[in-house]
Amino acid sequence: MQRDGINNSIWQEVDVPKLPVLPDQEHAEIVVVGAGITGLTAALKLREAGKTCVILEANTVGFGTTGGTSAHLNTVLDTPYTDIIEQHGIEKARTVLKSTREAISIIQKNITRYKIDCDFTPCSGFMYAENDEEEKELKKIKNALEQVGIVCSEVAKIPIPAPFIYAIEFPEQARFHPTKYLVGLVKAYTDLGGQIREGTLVQQVKEDDGGLRIKTVDDRIFSADFVVYATHTPPGIQLMTFRVAPYRSYIQVWELERQKDCPEALIYDMQEPFHYFRTVEQDGKSYLLVGGQDHKTAHHDNEKKNFRELEAYIRRLYTVNKKTYEWSSQYYESQDSLPFIGYYPGKKHHRELLSTGYGGNGLIFGTLGGAMMAELVLHGKTAFQDVYSPSRTGPLSTIRDLLVENYDVAKHFVKDRFFLEKVEGLAELGRGEGKILHYEGDRIGIFKDEKGKLFAVDPVCRHAACIVKWNNTERSWDCPCHGARYAPNGSLLTGPSVAPLKLWDFETTIQ
Ligand SMILES: Cc1cc2nc3c(=O)[nH]c(=O)nc-3n(C[C@H](O)[C@H](O)[C@H](O)COP(=O)(O)OP(=O)(O)OC[C@H]3O[C@@H](n4cnc5c(N)ncnc54)[C@H](O)[C@@H]3O)c2cc1C
Repeated sequence: MQRDGINNSIWQEVDVPKLPVLPDQEHAEIVVVGAGITGLTAALKLREAGKTCVILEANTVGFGTTGGTSAHLNTVLDTPYTDIIEQHGIEKARTVLKSTREAISIIQKNITRYKIDCDFTPCSGFMYAENDEEEKELKKIKNALEQVGIVCSEVAKIPIPAPFIYAIEFPEQARFHPTKYLVGLVKAYTDLGGQIREGTLVQQVKEDDGGLRIKTVDDRIFSADFVVYATHTPPGIQLMTFRVAPYRSYIQVWELERQKDCPEALIYDMQEPFHYFRTVEQDGKSYLLVGGQDHKTAHHDNEKKNFRELEAYIRRLYTVNKKTYEWSSQYYESQDSLPFIGYYPGKKHHRELLSTGYGGNGLIFGTLGGAMMAELVLHGKTAFQDVYSPSRTGPLSTIRDLLVENYDVAKHFVKDRFFLEKVEGLAELGRGEGKILHYEGDRIGIFKDEKGKLFAVDPVCRHAACIVKWNNTERSWDCPCHGARYAPNGSLLTGPSVAPLKLWDFETTIQ
């Protein structure tokens, strides 16, 4: 399985079944955009109801964050219920809990119905405090958990060797293998005759004669009655652009000296940003997965430092044999701590649906979002629709309903044959490194590959014209504003952009 970063995640080690070659289907009742957990959950439910459905995926199944997650399944969310109660009130907070239980139940039902072997393991969760301030905060969280209806208990022991002064345990969490589950959904969906088209970036969706017209990057046109955006963040510039913000989180997988030290439960500390732990099985052996170091995308000088800090943190707790994986990935925080799921706001019709802003709980909210969008298509209503409505009120920003930007791939031509000599800082650029450098008053993004070949991009993001930043761990150009990401050569990795970076064309001049 491929992913949107250069580091391999442990979840990529799965075989994706060969997708059936079916006759071209240019019209479907529903086009689902994106083949992560959200898209496949929605598409399977729609197909089960007998709807014709095509998934259009820009890259390959699991390419997005579903292939780079940590796969805790929680009813106790990363955003504490203290915050949810404060922002949305106790009744809505209780509904949120109910909806997370529903999401875990959907996953369990799919596993049973389609016999998906994905290491689903129910377990409890632990949260622990290491100082007085954290203890005070954790006691408030415990109180909020009890108010919403989660039974939790104070405990004298936790399953990891961390120093703590106060800890709680809560039931009804779970963990699983996200891409084995995703592959199970792919199989179930395609066995039912559902189509998936990989390598198909959706660039534009327009109303057309009572239906929708969908244009892809290779100028193909599809038509549908409904479009479901399961793209993690919806493409283009629209209301959601201003209501969700991109974050990056870092994960390592360790072989411990003693396998039996791998915890059964899911565990969280109270640091800021916090760390998360779970066990993951591979080839009959248990490994410790630890994550954290979260920060706003492209707001960190040196991403590699996060791996070093994570390693130092884990070495303080455990005697380790070796690190087997490390990777980082991106998620989207919502402005008011809850995801946005439902009809696309600002449209006169109810034919486009979206689901985004999951924070670090997108396997839960992606499952819920997929199921809710399918329900809305099938029945025009669904449980929880008011709580998660994308049109709910809150601070609004200017909306530019602009799905398609100027997506030509025009290049900057450099006539000057001494172009590269004039790029300031180029001499210091190491192999495998990228940097924004300067050339006669312009900014230029340069990447030097392992063989010394140079790639030069215009660092202006094709989404909302912010300046991208080099991510030195995943080797990508990341946009600090809305999280669009590009490969070293400028090709598009992650939306909300729908176009690659523009290139500087200099090769012809430096022979
Ligand atoms: C490090 C990390 C750890 C996490 N841990 C957890 C956890 O423990 N538990 C949990 O519940 N959540 C967790 N999350 C969050 C969760 O993994 C994600 O929110 C979830 O996987 C998102 O799924 P998705 O299907 O919505 O999006 P993705 O998996 O990102 O899929 C979106 C797909 O849409 C495609 N796409 C995008 N734009 C277009 C377009 N224009 N045309 C066609 N295709 C397009 C992409 O190529 C991609 O394949 C974590 C996130 C991170 C970063």
